[in-house]
Amino acid sequence: MEEVVGWVNAKRKLGGIIFIELIPRSSLKPLTVVVKRDNSGLWEVAKKLKLGSAIRVKGEKVSGGISKRGEEFKPSEIVEVACPSESIPVDPLLKAGVTLDTLIRYRYLMLRNPKVRAVFKIRALLLKYAREYLESEGFLEVNTPKLCGAGAEGGAEVFELDYFGRKAYLAQSPQLYKQMLMAGLPKVYEITPYFRAEKHHTTRHLNESWGIDAEMGFIRGVDDVMRLLEGLISYILGELSKKAKEELNALGVEVEPPVIPFKRVTYDEVLKLLKEEGLVLRWGEDLTHEAERKLGEIMKEKGYELYFIINYPWEAKPFYIMKEGRLSKSFDLDYKGLEIASGGQREHRFNELIKNMREKGLNVEDFGFYLEAFKYGMPPHGGFGLGVERLLMSLLNLSNVREAILFPRDIQRLIP
Ligand code: ATP
Ligand code: MG
Repeated sequence: MEEVVGWVNAKRKLGGIIFIELIPRSSLKPLTVVVKRDNSGLWEVAKKLKLGSAIRVKGEKVSGGISKRGEEFKPSEIVEVACPSESIPVDPLLKAGVTLDTLIRYRYLMLRNPKVRAVFKIRALLLKYAREYLESEGFLEVNTPKLCGAGAEGGAEVFELDYFGRKAYLAQSPQLYKQMLMAGLPKVYEITPYFRAEKHHTTRHLNESWGIDAEMGFIRGVDDVMRLLEGLISYILGELSKKAKEELNALGVEVEPPVIPFKRVTYDEVLKLLKEEGLVLRWGEDLTHEAERKLGEIMKEKGYELYFIINYPWEAKPFYIMKEGRLSKSFDLDYKGLEIASGGQREHRFNELIKNMREKGLNVEDFGFYLEAFKYGMPPHGGFGLGVERLLMSLLNLSNVREAILFPRDIQRLIP
C-alpha cells in the first residue's frame, strides 16, 4: 500500500467512474485516481471533492489501467485534508493562456505546474552544486551585511533607508566585504541577494536578484579567477545534465556540460565583430543589451554558447577593478547573448585604490572602513559575481528573468 498526497486539479464523472486528476506533493507527474461507484464509501468522498481540494489517498499504482492521462492510482481510502473556501482562480496544469502577471500573482498555485516546479527544483539544485564545487575548491561560505553604511560602489543605484536616524543602504553586492575578508580569509563565497534601485523595464533585471559571489586571495592573475568560474559553471551544468533529467525534460531543455576552457574574446575583438554586423559602439562604453544579443548570435555561429569577454576598458568598470593602462583586468561571462557574471582582479594596493576611487568621483572618506583593510598585507585577489536568475534564464531559455525567482521584485511588484 502506498500513500500519495496532493491537490485535485480536475474531476470528471463518466458513468459509474470518477476520474480525479491529482497533482502530487512534489513529483512532476500528475496521477489519475480512479474511483468506482461500487465502492460506496469512496464514491461519496470523491463526489464532494472540489477543484483545489488537498487530499491524502491510500492505495496502489496501477499499470495499464483505464485512464488515458497520467499514471493511474487505485484508491482504498481518500481523506480530504483541506477544502478550498473559494474556487481556484487558475488551472495550474493548463499553461496556455497564463500571462506572466498571473503566473507571478498566483505563484504558489502555479508551483503545482510541472514546468514551474521544474524551474525551482533546478534553481535549488544549481545552488547545491555551486556550494559543492566551491567547497571542494576550499572556499568557505560567508554571510556579509545587507544593511550597509556606505552608498553606491558604482555601477548601480542603491536603496536608501533610515537606520536609527542615520542613512543606510541595502547592499548592491557583497563586493566591499568580500574584499575586506581577503586580508584574513582568502577564499570565500556567498550566496546573497543584490538590491539595486534602477527603474528597469527589461526582461533581465530585477530589483532584488541573487548572486553567487566568490573571492580569492594570493592569485597570480585574472586567469585564476576565470578558471574558477568556468570550473564552477561546467560542474553545475554537468551535474544538472546527470541529475535533473526529468526536470530538464519537462522544460524541453537539453544541457551538455560545456567544454573547458571557455572561449575568450577581447573587448576590442567584440567591437570589431559587432562593427562587421553594422553595430558601432564607442570605445570605452559597456556593451549595450543589443550588442550583447548580437554578439550572442555571432558566437553561436562560431559554436560558442558560453564565452568570456576580457580586457574591458577601465572606464567601463568599477573602481575596485585593477587597471592595466587604459584597460582593466576584468571579464564578463556571457551565456547565449546574456551577461551572467562579471569579475576580475581587484586593486589591492592602497595608494592605487585611492587613486582609482578619486578617478571615479567617489568620496574616499565614505569608504574609510573598507580602505583600512588594505593597509595590513592585503594579498592580490580577485573574484566574480554570478547572477543566479540570469544563469537560470539562459540555461532554461526562459523569456523573462521573473520566471526564475519565486516572488520577483521590480518597479511594480512589492507584493506578493
Ligand atoms: P547589467 O549590465 O546586465 O545590468 P551589471 O553589470 O550591472 O549587470 P554586475 O554588477 O556585474 O551587474 O553583477 C553581477 C551579476 O549579477 C551580473 O552579471 C548579473 O548576472 C547579475 N545581476 C546584476 N544586476 C542584476 C539585476 N538587476 N537583475 C538580475 N541580475 C542581475
Ligand atoms: Mg557586470
